[in-house]
Amino acid sequence: MARKIGSRYTAHQILGRGSAGTVWLGDGPEGPVAIKLLREDLASDQELVGRFVQERTALLGLDHPRVVSVSDLVVDGNDLALVMDLVRGTDLRTRLDRERRLAPEAAVAIAADVADGLAAAHAAGVVHRDVKPENILLDMEGPLGPGGAHPALLTDFGVAKLIDTPRRTRATKIIGTPDYLAPEIVEGLPPRAAVDIYALATVLYELLAGFTPFGGGHPGAVLRRHVTETVVPLPGIPEELWQLIVQCLAKAPASRLRASELSARLRDQLPLLAGMPPLDVDEPDSEAEGDGYAANPAGAAYDDPSQRPAGPDEPRRRGAVPLVPGSALDSSRDTHTSMRVPAPDELAGGARGTARVPRAAGQRRPGSARHKSDTVRRRRILLGGAAVVITAALGVGGWLAVTDDTPETVPQDTRQSSPAQP
Ligand code: ADP
Ligand code: MG
Repeated sequence: MARKIGSRYTAHQILGRGSAGTVWLGDGPEGPVAIKLLREDLASDQELVGRFVQERTALLGLDHPRVVSVSDLVVDGNDLALVMDLVRGTDLRTRLDRERRLAPEAAVAIAADVADGLAAAHAAGVVHRDVKPENILLDMEGPLGPGGAHPALLTDFGVAKLIDTPRRTRATKIIGTPDYLAPEIVEGLPPRAAVDIYALATVLYELLAGFTPFGGGHPGAVLRRHVTETVVPLPGIPEELWQLIVQCLAKAPASRLRASELSARLRDQLPLLAGMPPLDVDEPDSEAEGDGYAANPAGAAYDDPSQRPAGPDEPRRRGAVPLVPGSALDSSRDTHTSMRVPAPDELAGGARGTARVPRAAGQRRPGSARHKSDTVRRRRILLGGAAVVITAALGVGGWLAVTDDTPETVPQDTRQSSPAQP
C-alpha cells in the first residue's frame, strides 16, 4: 500500500500512530525515512499549515544525535508531512509497558540521553513541551550503553507548540495525560525550558517506580497534585539520585537544573548504579486514595460503548483519562499537547463550588503493600464504579481550589537550593 508523499517520498508501511498523526516507514532520495503524516483535521487547517511552514527553520534546524531530526516538511494537497530520521527500535512507552520498571542504571542512562537532546534544543531556544515516554525512541541498532540501554532519542520537537493554540484547543474535544505537566503550566504561565526538565524528571521517576509521581485518576486531581503535593520518596533509591529527581520536580521552575547540568549529574551516578536491580516498589493504593484510576472504571464517562477504554481485564494505562466527558481515547499515544484545562462546569456536571476536600496524609503509599493480584484489581475496578461520582466531585473540588487560591497555595520546594534557570 505504497503512497506518494510530495514528489520525493513514498510511504510504505505504518510504524506507529500518535495523537498528531500516523508515522510511516518510507523512502526518500537519501534512503529510508520516517514520515509523519499529520491528522487530516490538522492538515486541512490552513492556519496550522501556515504555522508549520513559518516554523520550518526551527523544526528542521535541530541536529543532534539525541534528537530525531526533521529533514523535510511536505505540504502536498491535503497532506502535511514531516520527514524524519528513521529510528529502528521502539518507543520508551512500549518498553516500559513490557518491563514495568527499569533497572536504575538503564533508566538513568536513558534520562541522560534525553537531557542531552534537551540541552541542545534549549540552547537553540526550542522548548519541547511534550516530553513523555511515547516521545522517546530507543534506537535498537545503536550501541548498548550503561545497563544495557539502547541510545534514546527525543522526537516530536516543536510540534506541541504548533498544534497547541487556544483557538484549536477550544474547538476540539481533547484527551490527554496531564501526568507530565509542570505546575507552572497548570497555573497558566508560558512554558519555558524548565517544563521539559520537570517532565523528564517525571519520566525518570516513572522508569524507576513504574508509575508517575502525580498521575492517576481524575485529571483535575492530577493537575492539583502537580501544584500542591510533594513527591513521595521511592524506597531503596540511592540518595543522590533521589535528590536529583526532587530538585528537577521542584515547584519553582528556577530551582530545577538546566538540561546540561542534569545530564552531567545523571552520568556521574551511573557507576554507582551498575548492577542494581529494578526498585522493589508497588503502585500507590488507588482504592485508598479515592482518586486513583480504579475510580474511572471502564467506560464510565463514555457515551459511545465502542469508544470505551480497556475493560477491567485489559491493561489500562494510568493517567490516560478523558478531560472532557464523552470524549474518546483516540489511541494509547495520547498527548497533552493540545490539552486545555477544562471548564469547571464541563468537569463537574453540577459540582461547581464543591469545597476542596483535603486528602489525609499517607493516602499515597508507594512501596507499601505488595502488588495486588489481578483478582483484587478487578474487584477494585468494579468497586471504583460506585466511587466515580464522589471522585469527580473530589477532583473538581481540588481543581477549583487550585484555580481559586493560587498562588498562595503553591508550596515552594524548600529543599531546593541551587537556582538554575535557562
Ligand atoms: P505523535 O506526534 O502523533 O504523537 P509520534 O511522533 O509520537 O506521533 O509517533 C508515534 C509512533 O510512531 C511512535 O511511538 C513510534 O513508535 C513511531 N515513530 C515515530 N517517529 C518515528 C521515527 N522517527 N522512526 C521510527 N518510528 C517512529
Ligand atoms: Mg508523539
